[in-house]
Amino acid sequence: MFKRSCLIILLILISCRVSAHGGRVYETDDYWLKISPRSVRVGEAVRLLFYSPREVKITGMAVGQTLRFYRYGKYYRALIGIYPKTKPDTYKFNLKITDARGKSVMMPAAIEVLGREFASTSITLPAGKKELSSDKKLVPERKKLADYINTESARLFWRGRFIRPARGRISQVYGVRNIINGELSYHHNGIDIAAPEGAPVLAGNDGRVILASYLAVRGKTVIIDHGQGTLSAYFHLQVILAKPGSWVSKGELIGRVGQTGMATGPHLHWTTYIHSVPVNPVNFLAGNLL
Ligand SMILES: [Zn+2]
Repeated sequence: MFKRSCLIILLILISCRVSAHGGRVYETDDYWLKISPRSVRVGEAVRLLFYSPREVKITGMAVGQTLRFYRYGKYYRALIGIYPKTKPDTYKFNLKITDARGKSVMMPAAIEVLGREFASTSITLPAGKKELSSDKKLVPERKKLADYINTESARLFWRGRFIRPARGRISQVYGVRNIINGELSYHHNGIDIAAPEGAPVLAGNDGRVILASYLAVRGKTVIIDHGQGTLSAYFHLQVILAKPGSWVSKGELIGRVGQTGMATGPHLHWTTYIHSVPVNPVNFLAGNLL
């Protein structure tokens, strides 16, 4: 009974308000959590910033994903990406905050996910590239990629906003439903930047190259680990100019634009991941994660 009344008092002490910058803020006497943006569309990223006056451990799950909080200056930060197929809803969750003495409190919070209509487009692959859209090619490649995309380095390597990795117009935005040869259908998991063959491809931010290799569907590919579950991938390159295991800086030349793999013309396909969820790269460019 005593425990139950304590819990009720604690819940009353947590207040929620909307901050001036559009985030959702939860506060107790000791802790503070800001979730931004206030509402998130499918395919976009959410940032959770947590403040505690002392060292704590924060655990929880939100929108079906385990939250991973990392130290971020005087805060803790967790990033999550919302899958394009997520059902629009208000997702309530609880953070468990445990201090050094082992005392825990629960902080209730919520993430509001909004839907979005994605455009769809039909693409016809030329005869020579048709077999690239078959499961025989797609499935093993997806498995191989997953080994890299699930990388979770505890340290943070990137700083500031990401830069656009190639010059040129965006020929396909994130999320478009691509229908290949009337059969295969998927949400475009990055952006396409149209550029001439051989144009420079630059690292979006600091990090370590974890894959620099040829893949049948994605063509010549570079994947950079930016730390704490953030990664960026560069597909269809003409040439790869980065070595696996090497460190690269923001703006460093890592390859050249091409059309290797399942591409109908020269372009750079750029995907950005948060804990293996491909999110709209615009979140990385606009500094929404900072
Ligand atoms: Zn693409």
